[in-house]
Amino acid sequence: MDQTVENVVIIGSGPAGWAAAIYTARANLNPLVIEGDPTSETNRLQGTIPLGQLALTTEVENYPGWPSGHTREFLKTALTPESQPYWVAAEKPQPNHGINGPELMELMRQQAKNFGTRIVSKDVVKVDFSKQPFTLTTHDREQVRTRTVIIATGARANYLGLPSEDVFKNRGVSACAVCDGALPRFRQKGIAVVGGGDSAVEEATYLTKFGSRVHLLVRRDALRASKIMQQRARDNPKIEIHWNTELDEVLGTEETGVTGARVKNNKTGQLRELPVSGVFLAIGHTPNTGFLGGQVKTNEKGYVVWTTPARTYTSVDGVFAAGDVADDYYRQAITAAGTGCMAALDAERYLAHHGHI
Ligand code: NAP
Repeated sequence: MDQTVENVVIIGSGPAGWAAAIYTARANLNPLVIEGDPTSETNRLQGTIPLGQLALTTEVENYPGWPSGHTREFLKTALTPESQPYWVAAEKPQPNHGINGPELMELMRQQAKNFGTRIVSKDVVKVDFSKQPFTLTTHDREQVRTRTVIIATGARANYLGLPSEDVFKNRGVSACAVCDGALPRFRQKGIAVVGGGDSAVEEATYLTKFGSRVHLLVRRDALRASKIMQQRARDNPKIEIHWNTELDEVLGTEETGVTGARVKNNKTGQLRELPVSGVFLAIGHTPNTGFLGGQVKTNEKGYVVWTTPARTYTSVDGVFAAGDVADDYYRQAITAAGTGCMAALDAERYLAHHGHI
């Protein structure tokens, strides 16, 4: 067995993972990122491929530092040829106004690599945090031993599981209004939002800035959202609440993407088609914590718990958590990157405190 003991292993490759890698690499900790298995069918289907949830989006308008502009020359010079987007390599027109999610993630990955980060494209399937050094087992049964771990595996949006959802993902179907709502395809068109919690109401309210009408599809005859949010939904003339209503199918065409939503009243069985250009799912998220096997304290929804406010400490000394895996509230790329930086500094201090650096 390889006797090497790593200083820090980062599991996950979204904004939290790469921010942690950039900081630990620049602190000479020689980090190893286990980024996930890009060839796994399970990862593809459940949206947990490497580079995180931003890799599943299109244009990113709210990551500071990326106003709209011509990005071709920058992407060409910053990224290696194999990680350049197709439109740069193929000399096609730039598809959006600014930076796309997958491009932003490749840039973060490259930035981490530039400072010497080592990357392994595997899934961690098991951990042993019972003694130092910790042991991580990857899907091909390799073991990695390490003094500290930064968990940055994120969360995945819940979808209903309709085949038509999959077909139109990124072409009108989304699980993030803040990410995608301002895209031209939704302007002055109908939009459907599925869910009845605070997120659904918040997303519906946000989407009224762009769409002509927002249809909130609620499966019961009541909203789960807080009272104040419920009032906000009822007071907004652009939001129409459809009670006891479920999404039956997303309708659309190859050329235009989503053109409608077939919905079903679950009391009467009546089907109806709503003309919409988008369908937003807001039915909760699931954190990617299964591989931890219950060895790190999680909350009732499965999110890793920070045991000290404003620190990335978990219930295991030497194991830190950053990004959406420990955040079911803000869930933004910028907040994930921020906590990734915090976790890196926490890991560095831990190693220094224990005399390893
Ligand atoms: P949530 O509170 O768990 O609500 C999920 C909603 O989706 C519920 O209305 C649920 O219906 C519905 N749903 C679940 N599965 C469904 C399915 N298969 N088909 C149709 N509908 C389905 O999740 P959330 O809204 O994402 O909120 C998560 C947490 O963040 C909450 O604690 C929330 O208060 C908080 N949050 C706060 C704010 C804010 O204060 N501004 C904003 C966003 C989120 P049922 O009600 O029938 O179960």
